[in-house]
Amino acid sequence: MYYDAMVMGAGPAGCMAARALSDAGFKVVLCERERLPRDKTCGGFLSPQAASLVEEAFGPIPASCRDVPETVRGARLLCAGGGDYELPFSGPGISVLRSRLDAHLAAHCGAEVMDACEVGDFRAERFHVTARLITGGREEKVEATYLVAADGAESMALRLLRPEFHRLYAATHLERSMLVLSQGEMDWDQEWIGLALVRKGMGIARFFVKGDLIGLAVNHDAARGWRDELDGLIALLGERTGLRLHGDVMRRISASNRMAAAGHYSLGAGSALIAGEAAGLLDPWGFGIRLALESGRVAAESLAESAGERITPHIRYRYRMQEILEREVKQRRDLSAGVGDLDTTSLSAGGSRAARRDRRALRRRFSR
Ligand SMILES: Cc1cc2nc3c(=O)[nH]c(=O)nc-3n(C[C@H](O)[C@H](O)[C@H](O)COP(=O)(O)OP(=O)(O)OC[C@H]3O[C@@H](n4cnc5c(N)ncnc54)[C@H](O)[C@@H]3O)c2cc1C
Repeated sequence: MYYDAMVMGAGPAGCMAARALSDAGFKVVLCERERLPRDKTCGGFLSPQAASLVEEAFGPIPASCRDVPETVRGARLLCAGGGDYELPFSGPGISVLRSRLDAHLAAHCGAEVMDACEVGDFRAERFHVTARLITGGREEKVEATYLVAADGAESMALRLLRPEFHRLYAATHLERSMLVLSQGEMDWDQEWIGLALVRKGMGIARFFVKGDLIGLAVNHDAARGWRDELDGLIALLGERTGLRLHGDVMRRISASNRMAAAGHYSLGAGSALIAGEAAGLLDPWGFGIRLALESGRVAAESLAESAGERITPHIRYRYRMQEILEREVKQRRDLSAGVGDLDTTSLSAGGSRAARRDRRALRRRFSR
C-alpha cells in the first residue's frame, strides 16, 4: 500500500497532523499501536489555547468527551516546605477524558485509521518511507512519501531517526509516572489542577479532583518505588488539604514522560518529522497537549508546503517551529525567575544556606 503520508500514533499530535494533511489533499494512513479508545495516563486538562486548537480543526468538543470540572482555571503549586502558588490560565480551560477525546479525534481526522497496529520499524530515505506494521499477529509493509512520527514519550521513531539524541537526552531523561486513582475527600477547588514539589530530585507530582475521584501522579525510579513517593504526596496533601482517602488504590496506570528532558527538542530528519512528546515537547509543568496539537499541525503544514519542492520538509518544519520553541524557552526563563522569588518560602524557610541551595536547585530544574 502506498500513501502520501503515514502518521504514527493517534494521540493529539498524530490526529492533528493527520487532520491537517487530509485537509491539504494528502492520502494519509494513521497507525495506532493500541485498540481505540485507548487509555492515556493524563489528567486530561486542556488550556484555553489547547481547547481552541482542537475546536478549530475538529469542531466543538462533544459532551461525551468532557469530564468534570466543566472549567479549569489553571494550576496551583504546593511546596513541601510551605508555599501555595497560583499559575492561572489566560482564560477558562476544560477537562476531558483522554481515551474518549483521542478516539474522537482519530475518528474525525480524515485519514484511514489502523488501530491495534504497531509500527514495528521503518526506513526513512529522502521522500520515501517504508514501514513494517504488526497487526493481529500479521506483518504488513506500507510505503509513503512522508512520515509524521507522533509516538509519544518512549518514541521508537526518535531512536531510529536520531539515535545520538535519543541516547544523550531522551532515554536518560525519561521519567516514569504512576497515576493512582482513588476515592476520598480533600479541601481543594476542583477547578485548579494540583502540582506539588514533595521532595527534591523527584520532579513535580500532580493531583486533581474530578467529582468523587482523586488522581495522584508521582514520579518514581529504580531506587525509590512509586509507593514511597505516593505516601509522601498523601502526607503533604493530608497536612495542607485534609486529604482522606476512602480505602486504597482503585486503579493505577503507569507511563513514561519526557518532563525531565524538557528543553531538549528533536524534530526529525529529512522526510520524517517528529511531533508532540516524541519530539520532547512538554511545557515546564508537564502539560503537553497544546504543544502536541501545535507541532502536529505545523509538521503537516510544513509537509504540504514543501511538497513538490526539492528541499526536505524538516528544514521548513524547524524554521516554522522556531517561534513556538522560543515561546517555550521564554516561558521557562520567566518561570525560572518567578520560582526563584517564591522559593525562599518553599522547600526551606528563610535565607539560610540550605534555602539558598534549594533555590539554586529549583532554578536549575525550571530553567532546563
Ligand atoms: C500523569 C500525567 C498527567 C498529565 N496531565 C496532562 C494534562 O492534564 N494536560 C496536558 O496538557 N498534558 C498532560 N500530560 C502530558 C500529556 O499527556 C502528553 O504530553 C500528551 O499526551 C502528548 O501527546 P502526543 O500526541 O505527543 O503523544 P501521546 O498522547 O502519548 O500519543 C502517542 C500515541 O502513539 C502510540 N504509539 C506509540 N508507539 C507506537 C508505535 N510503534 N506504532 C503505533 N503507535 C504507537 C501510543 O499508543 C499513543 O497512542 C500528562 C502526562 C502525565 C504522565
